[in-house]
Parts: sequence; structure tokens; C-alpha cells
Amino acid sequence: MFVLRIFLYCVLLSLMVGCAQKGGGPLIPRGVPVIRVRIFQDCKQIRVAADENVWVKSASDITPHPVAFPPAPGSVLKLADGMWDAGGVKLGTGELVITPAKVGAASINGNSYRGRYRLVPTSANTFDVINDVDVDSYLKSVIPVELYSSWADETYKAQAIAARTYAIYESKTAGAKRAWDVYADERSQMYGGISRETSKSIRAVDATAGIVVAYGKPGEERIFKAYYSSCCGGKTQSAHDAFGDVYIPPLAEYDRGSTCSISPRFQWPTVTIPKDELARRIQAWAKRRSELNGTPRPELKMQGVSRIDLAYLNKLDRPVYFYVTDKKGNRFMMRAEDLRLAISFDAQKGPTVYSAFFTPVNGTDSISFTNGRGFGHGVGLCQWCAQRQGQAGWRHEDIVLSAYPGAKLIRAY
Ligand SMILES: [Zn+2]
Repeated sequence: MFVLRIFLYCVLLSLMVGCAQKGGGPLIPRGVPVIRVRIFQDCKQIRVAADENVWVKSASDITPHPVAFPPAPGSVLKLADGMWDAGGVKLGTGELVITPAKVGAASINGNSYRGRYRLVPTSANTFDVINDVDVDSYLKSVIPVELYSSWADETYKAQAIAARTYAIYESKTAGAKRAWDVYADERSQMYGGISRETSKSIRAVDATAGIVVAYGKPGEERIFKAYYSSCCGGKTQSAHDAFGDVYIPPLAEYDRGSTCSISPRFQWPTVTIPKDELARRIQAWAKRRSELNGTPRPELKMQGVSRIDLAYLNKLDRPVYFYVTDKKGNRFMMRAEDLRLAISFDAQKGPTVYSAFFTPVNGTDSISFTNGRGFGHGVGLCQWCAQRQGQAGWRHEDIVLSAYPGAKLIRAY
């Protein structure tokens, strides 16, 4: 009996440890994190311009040395058979680091960014351009692209906390396996460099510097992937349903009522797309996704599209899975977020859906997406809900905590 009790205790303990590891995100960072943003991918050449000398160091250099690039429009920098070449001047081999002597003094392809540039070869003649920038300088350029310039100061501050946490989370998870942390577009967060910063975004980032949103028992808090999207349409979905992430209360589904009804996409009119066109887009999306993931998507076997039906709703009646039936009668279950992206993939100016929060109606040759609500994935912070709250005088701390129930705000640095 005693042995059995010990055995059961061990099983219980290992389950608890397993759960803790599964749900545990990265620890709260210490010091100001640097975010590595991949601003250009697989370039053959770029234009570098500088108002004064910049410091350059390739992997084959022992120390950095000053290089004079011309002012705008600058000169071409390329990688030729593994050797860096700036207008005929050889700059060594391997990773090339360009550090402006002062903020904004050097630009790449007409845009200047804070921090330094790291050029990482991806083949003998191509390279990625990565901008290593402290998280708060990064955010000053992210927030204005994400929000309207007229929006409330408190909404800006709430967005700054969410975006800061998201970026740090990415750097500690996906970024740990590669030479960069985040994309400079909607795949991560939109990032435009110094020219996109506004006085409002600078104020919001400075006022919240070091604050992240975290979850966990006192003393054991960890940051989580603080998702946000444009408009929840009144009901959010969980990160578990949307992306298959581990379920945690701050990223669960919540009823927001009509909080974001001021958004032009709170409800959107019926969108109708021919079945043949839907089939083409889903195939194109599945092909691209298969390439990115390195494993073939089941939709590659889809023979046209016959109908789309709701498969599962979350407890708030927001769709989280759909069935797509092909012309041969084969049924494919697709995550709502995947279907949303597939329907709008390579649309070539044709109609698209704004969210997966819709009811499909099957016609003879086309499918209509009716009762459309919201814009984006609808997980975590809803920007239009946050703006409505900011307008109503909410403090940014309360906006963030209402977006991520059960979470807390922590000063990380
Ligand atoms: Zn909302």
C-alpha cells in the first residue's frame, strides 16, 4: 500500500512538473532587451547612405574600422562570392556589422533605424539585413504603424506594454533558434524605422519603459505571447483555439459585448467569392505554408471546393474550426485562423474576409461569408476595445489587465 502511495505520488508530481514546464513561458527579462529585427531578407544588394563615417566590422576583421559611405542616395553594398563589396571597396567576409556613430546617421535602402545593422549571409551572394535595436527604440516605430494617430494616449501606452511583451517573448522563444527575433511586417509587428516614430508613440513608450505583462503565481511570473489584433467583433478567441498554443487564462476567450462597436469592421457586409477562386487561393496558401513549415499541408490534396461549413464554435459562438468539402466529397477540417488566411491569400485585389468570425452560406458556384464580425485573429488585446476604453478615461494599466484577465504588470527593467 505504501509503495503504491509513493508510486501515485511520483506520477502526480511528474504530471505537475510536466504541466509547469508546458505552460511556462520565458522568465521576466533583466536589463533592456535587444530585439533583432529582420528588416530585409535574402538581398543581393542594398543601398547604404551615411552623413558621417560609420563603424564596420566583418567576421574576418579583428576590430571595427571607420568607412565613409556617401550621403543619400548612398552607394551599393553587395555580397559577391562571399566577399562584401561597397562600390569596389572590399570589406571582408562573414557577418558584417555596421554601427552608425550617432542615431540615425546611416540608412539602408532609404530608411534609417536606431541601433546597429547586422548583415548575415544566407548564401555566397545573398544576405539578410538585421537591425539590432533596444526594445523601447523598436516600439517607438511599431506603435504608430499599429494605431491611428488620433487615438488616446492611454491606448498607446496599453499597446506599448502588449507589443513590448510580445517582442521580448518572440526573442526568447522563436528567436533563440535563429539569427533574428522578429519580422518587420504583420507576421510579427509592423516596424518602419525612425521616420515612423511620432511624439505620441515616443511618450507612450517612455512612460511605460520596462513594464511587461506576465502571468503566474507571485514570484513565479513569466511573460507570455501578448497577442493583439485590430477588432474582436465583440468576442475574442483563445490562443489555444487560434494557434494551438498552451491554454492560459490571459489568452482565453472573452465576451467584450459592444465595446469595439466604433470600429468600421465590428460588423462587415457579406463577402461572396466563387468556389473556383476559393479553391485556387486555398491551394496557393497550402503550398506556401507547406514550404514554410517543411511539411505538406493536407489541403494540397483538395480537389476544388464544394462547400464550407462551421465545424466547431467556442463557448461564445465564435467559429474556431471549419469543414471544407472538396468536389470529390473529401472533408478537410481547418482551423478558423488558417481558413481566414487561406481565403484571403493571393487575392489579387479580389474580395477578402476580415476575420474568421463569419457564417458561410453555400451557393451553386460561390460561397458567401455572412454575419462578418471583427478584423484580425481576435486573440488577446483588441485595439478598438482599447481605444474605446482609452476614450472613456480608462488608465492604461486597466486596459491591459482587462485585455489579459488574470495577468499582472511587472517592471522588468
Ligand atoms: Zn473588441
